[in-house]
Amino acid sequence: MTIKDRLNDHLNSIVLQYGQHQGLTKEEAAYFYIGPHEEVAPGVWHFYSLAHSITFICEDRLMQVDANIGFKAPEVIEQMRKITKLPIDSIAITHGHIDHCLGTWHYVRDNLDRGFGHPKVIAHKNLRDRIDKNKMMEGHRSGTDKKQFQFDMKLKEEFVYANVEFMDRLEVTVKDQSFLIVYGNGHTEDSIWVYNPERKVLCCGDLFQWTAPNVGNPYKMQRFALENAQALEEMAVQGADVLCPGHGPVIYGKEEIKTCLLTSARYLRTIQDHVVACLNKGMILEETVNTLEMPEDLLNSKWLPPLYGHPTFIAKGIFKRYAGYYSGRPAELFPPDYADIAKEMVALAGGSAPILERVHHLMEKGQVELACQLSEWLIESDPDNQEAWEQYGMLFKERAEKEFNMQARGTWNQAVRRAVSNLERLEAQATA
Ligand SMILES: [Zn+2]
Repeated sequence: MTIKDRLNDHLNSIVLQYGQHQGLTKEEAAYFYIGPHEEVAPGVWHFYSLAHSITFICEDRLMQVDANIGFKAPEVIEQMRKITKLPIDSIAITHGHIDHCLGTWHYVRDNLDRGFGHPKVIAHKNLRDRIDKNKMMEGHRSGTDKKQFQFDMKLKEEFVYANVEFMDRLEVTVKDQSFLIVYGNGHTEDSIWVYNPERKVLCCGDLFQWTAPNVGNPYKMQRFALENAQALEEMAVQGADVLCPGHGPVIYGKEEIKTCLLTSARYLRTIQDHVVACLNKGMILEETVNTLEMPEDLLNSKWLPPLYGHPTFIAKGIFKRYAGYYSGRPAELFPPDYADIAKEMVALAGGSAPILERVHHLMEKGQVELACQLSEWLIESDPDNQEAWEQYGMLFKERAEKEFNMQARGTWNQAVRRAVSNLERLEAQATA
């Protein structure tokens, strides 16, 4: 079997972890848990999917929180309609990520088809800008989804703009039930949370999502750690008995929920305070990230495994927010082309062969980051070197196989894809 075939086998065997957690408890599956729907309180149904949604029965009307990703919404609506055929009065959208908002179109359609009219669609006023941004950045979205989630997805649904928009907080009554809807910011600039005090059910969207907070994403626009922490703290004092998160299992019990929310807030504040202190001392990005020390209890928290978010991503996001993207190294403000740096380094080393040898040696010593860096220089300086691409592909394949964080793993797998396509290019050149 050639190395290219082994790399292709690896790419073909990638498992998207969502809902694929055989043998793990709900808590171990964490962010990736998808299970059968649950009645979490009398007349309140939580539906698990790529992102979750919640249906509140309010006498003879429904309050819906979130609407799933577009291609999953029809099957969730079908489950929901087996439980209740009542009209949807309102749909509250916790934020404009497509796994929460794109299915809105299907819920509106379902209501219209049943002759119930267009429901109210409630969201923060920034959802409008977020939808416009989604449309403007569609090419980026699909490219990033390929890197992060390993799949190609065409959007078939129309985005639905809210017809009830608010700024800070909103109180909504649907028949005998009230809903406190509060702007949370943080995960996105349009994040909200929804609390139903009569049944003590809290829907937090992705302000908490059973992973180290996804605030400071290497592929995505600015997020807001401090505001996310504040939103978690405000939710913690509501006294909820049930917490329905945007991802991961439902959490029950007043004390458990309070501890979970405050632990998540402390996680974010620890990193926020560290970065702010470093910036005020004049430290550069690398020093800031490398001196971050997370307390053991936060690193090992069952609620916050670094499956999706990661302390380093969060620290970099906070740094960029307050201080821009400058690395702090003057040579890098207007840097030379990466390929030129690579050629210099490889020439200084005496050519490609010693680098191939050194990469191998570093891997044997377990210095994977350094090995990847040298390998990256090698393929940039010597892009027609088959052995260099084979080494590069195998290096990142091994790194992906050991990686816990989904976004890092997606990045390593993208490097494997790049190796395969260059090996194919070289094969085609050889036979031309
Ligand atoms: Zn989500």
